[in-house]
Amino acid sequence: MENVVVIGSGCAGWTAALYTARANLKPLVITGQQPGGLLTTTTIVENYPGFPEGVDGYELMTRMQKQAERFGARTTFGTVEAADLSRRPFTLTVDGEPLQTRTLIIATGASHRHLGLDSEQKLENKGVTYCATCDGALPMFRNQPLVVVGGGDSACEEATYLTRFGSVVYLIHRRDTLRASKIMADRALSNPKIKPRWDSVVTDVLDVKQDKVTGVQLKNVKTGEQSSLDAAGVFVAIGHVPNTQIFKGQLAMDDNGYLVPAQGASTNVPGVFVAGDCADHVYRQAVTAAGMGCAAAIEAERFLATQNQ
Ligand SMILES: Cc1cc2nc3c(=O)[nH]c(=O)nc-3n(C[C@H](O)[C@H](O)[C@H](O)COP(=O)(O)OP(=O)(O)OC[C@H]3O[C@@H](n4cnc5c(N)ncnc54)[C@H](O)[C@@H]3O)c2cc1C
Repeated sequence: MENVVVIGSGCAGWTAALYTARANLKPLVITGQQPGGLLTTTTIVENYPGFPEGVDGYELMTRMQKQAERFGARTTFGTVEAADLSRRPFTLTVDGEPLQTRTLIIATGASHRHLGLDSEQKLENKGVTYCATCDGALPMFRNQPLVVVGGGDSACEEATYLTRFGSVVYLIHRRDTLRASKIMADRALSNPKIKPRWDSVVTDVLDVKQDKVTGVQLKNVKTGEQSSLDAAGVFVAIGHVPNTQIFKGQLAMDDNGYLVPAQGASTNVPGVFVAGDCADHVYRQAVTAAGMGCAAAIEAERFLATQNQ
């Protein structure tokens, strides 16, 4: 029987583990298929406080793991396939094996949607990125033409943000109007540096042979016409999918599957807490995920203290 199980080993998970470990609760962290979480997929993180020169994403996550383990957090490599939250202790199924816990911290993150192109995958981190806030300021994008793919609020926000760095920002959308809220769409479209390309989809990211992004190949979905654009960066902003499917029907979530806390980090099930991108479709940053992990840990600790009284 565990006191605290943390599902997920990203910034939220390791921070929750650090705090619950320092409270002597010996948390068990289940890593999932991406030990270290999303940040391990990026080379340089320049906006995590405490690293004035920036820090490699993989190194930052390894440091977080070591810090949590130093205080007694335990790590198991596995995936939670099912969760029964109908009674305490909660029962998880981890790679076919049952595991019981008094409290649960869910920090399973959110996966970004991909365009699904082979070239997109090959050029990830070589000009293809999924986060303008994270990568927009990198030297490789400064004063260069950039491409944002998408038509929702995120795409408009990313395009507007990127006008600070790029020489021009092409907004590629498969329809002839943006799906974003009016205020976001107006802001983006009134920006002289943003050039929309309507009714268009990216069919290829160039240039795999050069091992860096040099542009995109486009297709007009109405006329079938092919064209290309020069660009140093492709920012894919077509949405995220929170990794919360196993909690469907048990925990409150919004229409897109993001967990909706009842109060603070607490959910509608007493003893279950949430942290990080699985419950945050707004900020989606390492530091906010870590902050939420801290909050979830403190609430789990307090919950256990009330149970033992
Ligand atoms: C390319 C890229 C660059 C980025 N750069 C920056 C940056 O510079 N600065 C910044 O602040 N943010 C950056 N971000 C965003 C940042 O990575 C996320 O906000 C942060 O990782 C969220 O942390 P998290 O712990 O909530 O989730 P994640 O990091 O996504 O971790 C989720 C964890 O849950 C695990 N998991 C999922 N499902 C299960 C399951 N069923 N069972 C067990 N485990 C499971 C996964 O294996 C993973 O370990 C970047 C993101 C990307 C994609």
